[in-house]
Amino acid sequence: MKPSILRIAIPCPLPKLFDYRGIEACLTNNLVGRRVRVPFGNRKLVGVIMDCGSESNLPLARLKPIDGLLDAAPVLDTEILDLLRWASTYYHHPIGDVVASALPVRLRQGHECQIQGITYWLPAPDADPETLSGRAVRQRSLLNLLQQHPQGLDSSELDAQSENWKSAIRELVKKGLVLTTERPCWERGSADTALRSAPELNAAQQAATDSIRASLDQNERFLLQGVTGSGKTEVYLDIIEAVIAAGKQTLVLVPEIGLTPQLVRRFRERLGNRIAILHSGLNDSERLCAWSMASSGEAQVIIGTRSAVFTPLTQPGLIIIDEEHDASLKQQDGFRYHARDLAVMRAHRLNIPIVLGSATPSLESLRRCEEGAYRLLRLPQRAGPARPPRIELLDLRRGQQTDGLSGLLIDEIHRHLKREGQVLLFLNRRGFAPTLLCEDCGWIAHCQRCDARMTWHAGSRLLRCHHCGAEQPIPSHCGECDSERLAPLGQGTERIEQTLEKTFPGVQIERIDRDSTRRKGALESSLDRAHSGESRILVGTQMLAKGHDFPGVTLVGILDCDQGLFSADFRAAERMAQLITQVAGRAGRAERHGEVLIQTRHPDHPLLQTLIHHGFEAFAKELLNERKLAHLPPYTHLALLRVEAQQREAPGHFIDRLLEILPRIKQVDLLGPVPAPMEKRAGRFRYQLLISAEERAPLHEQLHQLMHFIREMPEARKVRWSLDVDPVEMF
Ligand code: ADP
Ligand code: ZN
Ligand code: ZN
Repeated sequence: MKPSILRIAIPCPLPKLFDYRGIEACLTNNLVGRRVRVPFGNRKLVGVIMDCGSESNLPLARLKPIDGLLDAAPVLDTEILDLLRWASTYYHHPIGDVVASALPVRLRQGHECQIQGITYWLPAPDADPETLSGRAVRQRSLLNLLQQHPQGLDSSELDAQSENWKSAIRELVKKGLVLTTERPCWERGSADTALRSAPELNAAQQAATDSIRASLDQNERFLLQGVTGSGKTEVYLDIIEAVIAAGKQTLVLVPEIGLTPQLVRRFRERLGNRIAILHSGLNDSERLCAWSMASSGEAQVIIGTRSAVFTPLTQPGLIIIDEEHDASLKQQDGFRYHARDLAVMRAHRLNIPIVLGSATPSLESLRRCEEGAYRLLRLPQRAGPARPPRIELLDLRRGQQTDGLSGLLIDEIHRHLKREGQVLLFLNRRGFAPTLLCEDCGWIAHCQRCDARMTWHAGSRLLRCHHCGAEQPIPSHCGECDSERLAPLGQGTERIEQTLEKTFPGVQIERIDRDSTRRKGALESSLDRAHSGESRILVGTQMLAKGHDFPGVTLVGILDCDQGLFSADFRAAERMAQLITQVAGRAGRAERHGEVLIQTRHPDHPLLQTLIHHGFEAFAKELLNERKLAHLPPYTHLALLRVEAQQREAPGHFIDRLLEILPRIKQVDLLGPVPAPMEKRAGRFRYQLLISAEERAPLHEQLHQLMHFIREMPEARKVRWSLDVDPVEMF
């Protein structure tokens, strides 16, 4: 009998499968999708069997046998493997790397695919904190905490609520005051969620779910557009109930920032506990547990971030993408895929419906509606008692302003605070000031490694580069003229916070950005203070803009929207409008009427006027028109070849050389080499080649050629390069 040959996906940069000889244990069926350990160079790697056969292009004698088979059953089914093959071709990314990215870390490392329980700590039934010595403060407070959660807490819950709990809890276990138990991950939170019934849907919600429910057995694509608070989540819950009733699973993708405990609770309260959650906060065994729950069919609903799009499902019935416009659905390095686009493809191959939801859909999806490929369902009004906010522009060129806050805005903040409202101020720039300026000679502190200014951070008393992370102490003298008159120029959230403290003494202010929430649990406690109404003014970056509900907020201030109007990035205006609309959606969600004030130096800008007076949809229509005239996506398709090196000339030379030898495909435009918008970053010089075409087929033919030639070029070893298909960021 001929020895069987296994074609294996191995995580490495080579774009192919590798042939190995099977061993005796392989003489069985159904090998595809199982993991193997193989010798690779002088290492041992974990790969996945993609195919079996009896022929190889290499002489049999040169094939090595595998070391061993790791699974008794496939960990990836053929549906996922086919999707991964497709993705590898579409994104021109090596198959081994693509397959590895679909596996939870523990499986990538070769651990057994077995559901491990999660450890929970719970108070012993008769534990009495009084028996602890007075000095055991930490043990005492931990025991008190656990007694408030008699069903137990796991390590991530303890991390969120307590510091340095590990040694104290060991002592408590030793003393018999605390017990441990293991439970599968999906039982998390089960003890304290009571089921809740659905509200009666309004007419628009009903019409939306009727349309989707009528298409549960086919690949219909829906774009559910509704302002924040219009009840999209209720529509999802309603359809998911129907999918569960049909015995099928729903995959729900959300942006990282949207996967809040509130959202999870809401799903559990309505749909019960057979819900698997996949997000970056999980440790590896929790992730494996949730993943297995999905791939074994135990989970009826899988809620996850970007990479959850690759979760195997036994009974797929529906895919939902919430906030489908969100940039975090796109992977920005390594295997650069777009989870939304892959989900649309997956639903098509599975012949199941997909629902894309957003208050501010991407122009890509709106264009698909225009073409008739997606069905647009609208929820035009807020559900419940909330009314839409009043939106107004504040002209920054007129009147007084204090450190970035116009006099009018300050008056309005006073007025809202007096009437017990909460205020939310949004500025997408953290730190104290984006620039440090010498008032004598005009010198500005730049990053040594980037074409960028250093940001002044008052809290940590450092200058920090937001592009490469470089840090240095704040200088006392000018680097050029030695003057001591150095001043911060412009505003970041820290400075706004400081100004607010001076202007509103005694008022509790909460700053929420990446700096203020670095400590574990800090974001949760900030949000708690915001929700309870303890904090009166919230100031923050886009961390505040998304995913969170602040029913007490009656005034939203957008401190600077002008960055989006005049940027070199053609997506900047779209992003600005999405952010303004999302932030505005935070105002007046409860009974109170909300107000939104937008500070700008360009109040007459036509796009801004359209957005304010006619809303996001009208705005998007105008932008689509502009894109069409400018031959930009979604009317053309793009790919970006990024090249960087430590020598300034190397990337440009590399692209020039590539263009000399690359055969051209008709209908494809090649633009480059052009320097990246920030030419130098982290000590490297960066150039781009932009590849565009109106049709996808010639574009991909060109990309195929391009990859082939790059891989053959000896010069390629002297630079770093990457290809981004359908890039979202243009730098
Ligand atoms: P979205 O997902 O569009 O932001 P949600 O589904 O979260 O909107 O709904 C916003 C708020 O309105 C929530 O508090 C929700 O419970 C409530 N809500 C939604 N639909 C209804 C309805 N039909 N009747 C009463 N309240 C509703
Ligand atoms: Zn100077
Ligand atoms: Zn830098």
